[in-house]
Amino acid sequence: MKRVTILGATGSIGRSTLDIIARHPKQFAVHALTAKSNCSKMQQLCRRFRPRFAVMSGSASAEQLADEIADLPTEVLAGETGLSEVAAAEESDIVVAAIVGAAGLIPTLGAIRAGKRVLLANKESLVMAGALFMEEVRQHEAELLPVDSEHNAIFQCLPAGSIGRPAMKSGVHKIVLTGSGGPFRDFDIDRLESVTPEQACAHPNWDMGPKISVDSATMMNKGLEMIEACWLFDVDQSDIDIVLHRQSIVHSMVSYLDGSVIAQMGNPDMRTPIANALSWPDRIDSGVEPLNLLQVSQLDFTLADETRYPCLALAREAWHRGGTSMAVLNAANEVAVDQFLQGNISFMDIPKLITSAVERSSSGPADSLDSVLRADAAARESAQELVVSGDY
Ligand code: NAD
Ligand code: MG
Repeated sequence: MKRVTILGATGSIGRSTLDIIARHPKQFAVHALTAKSNCSKMQQLCRRFRPRFAVMSGSASAEQLADEIADLPTEVLAGETGLSEVAAAEESDIVVAAIVGAAGLIPTLGAIRAGKRVLLANKESLVMAGALFMEEVRQHEAELLPVDSEHNAIFQCLPAGSIGRPAMKSGVHKIVLTGSGGPFRDFDIDRLESVTPEQACAHPNWDMGPKISVDSATMMNKGLEMIEACWLFDVDQSDIDIVLHRQSIVHSMVSYLDGSVIAQMGNPDMRTPIANALSWPDRIDSGVEPLNLLQVSQLDFTLADETRYPCLALAREAWHRGGTSMAVLNAANEVAVDQFLQGNISFMDIPKLITSAVERSSSGPADSLDSVLRADAAARESAQELVVSGDY
C-alpha cells in the first residue's frame, strides 16, 4: 500500500489523480490533500478519501474547513508551514506536485529533499529553478517522474533511468515535442486580438485548469515544456523539435540515430501519464478508454509558426540567456495570464507584456533559491507596473 499526498488536490490534475486512486483502493491511500481556498470541494474530497491531513493556504479557509469536517479524523493545517509539513511527511511515499505556478516551487522542493517519489505536474517549478531542482533530486535521491503528458511520453520512449541523465548519450537523434496548437490554431491572426478568456479555456482536446489552458493557447506552454524537457533529460533546446499535432494522440516522440522513432500514443486524458508515474515500473488500469486508431484514422504533423506563437521565441531566448532568465519569463507570464483571465489585458497583449517585463528585468546566475525567488518577485513587480502604466 502506497500513501499519496496531493499538492493541489482540488485542481484538474488533482481530480485525475484521485480518480485513479479510487480505482485501486488496495494499492493507494491518501495521506494528505492540499488546496488554495476551495473549502467546499476540499470538504467533499476529505469525506470521500479520508486523508490524515488537509491543508488550506489561508488560515480563514483552514478554520472553515476544520469546522466543516470536525466529525472526521482529518487534521486541518494552514499556509506554507502546513504545505511544507505534508510535502515532506515521513508517512507518505508519493507526492503529486500539482499546484499551479511558482507557488508550487517550495513544497515541491520539500518533497524532493525528503527523498520522495515526486510526480511532477507543476512544470513552472522546474522551469524557474531547473539547475537547483535537478541537483536536489540527485543529492536526496528523490525519484522524479514526469506527469506532463509530453515528458511522460518521452520518459516512456527513452531507456530506463533517463531522468537527469544526458539523453543524447543514449543514441538519440532528436526529441520531438508535440503540441495541439490550442483553441485558436485555425483563427486568422487578426481575430486573436478579441478572443475571450472563456474561448481560451475551451481547449479542443484537453480539459485543464485556466492557467495552463491560456498557456496552451499562446503556446507558452510548449515553450515552458521545452525548458522542462531540457532539465529533465539533460539536453539542449537544439536537441528538441516542436511539432504541431492537432489530434493530441502522439504525446511526444524520441527519434534515434538508427532511424527508429518511438512514439507514445493514447487518448488525450491525463489519467494515463499519472497512472504510469503512480505505478511505475508496473502498469495499472487508469480508466482511460483504449485508443482506437481506426476511429482516429489520421495523424497530422506541421511546423509551429512562431509569428502566430511569439511565446515560443520568448522561451527559447530565456533558455539561451540561462540563469534566472527562466524565473523572470515564468513570473512575467503568470502575471500576464492572470491579467488576461481577469479581463484587464487582451490575448495579444500577453506576449507584449512578457517581452517588456523581460526587457526591464535583470538576470543573473540561478545559484541559490534566494536568487530565483528574488528574480521571480522583481519580474512580477515590473509586469504589474507595466499593466498599470499600459506602457508595453
Ligand atoms: P488547476 O488550476 O486546475 O489546479 C491548481 C491547484 O493548485 C488547485 O488545487 C489549487 O487550489 C492549487 N493552488 C493554486 N494556487 C495555489 C497557491 N498559490 N498556493 C497553494 N495552492 C494553490 O491547475 P491544473 O490544470 O491542475 O494544473 C496544475 C499543474 O499541473 C500546473 O503546473 C500545470 O501546468 C500542470 N499540468 C496540468 C495539466 C492538465 O491537464 N491540467 C497537464 C500538464 C501539466
Ligand atoms: Mg503538457
